Amino acid sequence: MKVKRFENTERESYLDTLAKACKVNPGLEYKDRAILSWDEIEEMSGAGISFGAHTKSHPVLSAVSLPEAKAEIIESKRTIENKTQKGVTTFAYPYGKSEDFSADVVNILLNEGFKYACTTNAGAEEFPINTPMTLKRKSNILSPYLLF
Ligand SMILES: [Zn+2]
Repeated sequence: MKVKRFENTERESYLDTLAKACKVNPGLEYKDRAILSWDEIEEMSGAGISFGAHTKSHPVLSAVSLPEAKAEIIESKRTIENKTQKGVTTFAYPYGKSEDFSADVVNILLNEGFKYACTTNAGAEEFPINTPMTLKRKSNILSPYLLF
């Protein structure tokens, strides 16, 4: 079963049911192991580190409607921009394989002002970069939360 390809509300409902069946609270556990707080992000941003967007709820962008994909992308971008007071022009596709996004999703990114987007497809880019919206990664070992 590919839960990641469920429609958002169906996926959330499935995960809630699974968490109850396993008697765990993933929401609390996630907060405890969050890598960065907003305060830390704001501090790092102030020190010159830039942050990219990654959607609001981490759906497979090719599996949701285009309006939903657009809302996921825009809300993620705007939230980070509001917190950091800096423009967000980089993106990492959730899950990141070629089948996890589409040309329509790439067009949404371009229309929203993104300049680069990272996949999880293995490889390295040659300069000059000819495909900035489908950047490959040097290693699949890298966390999907890292942009570059
Ligand atoms: Zn991710």
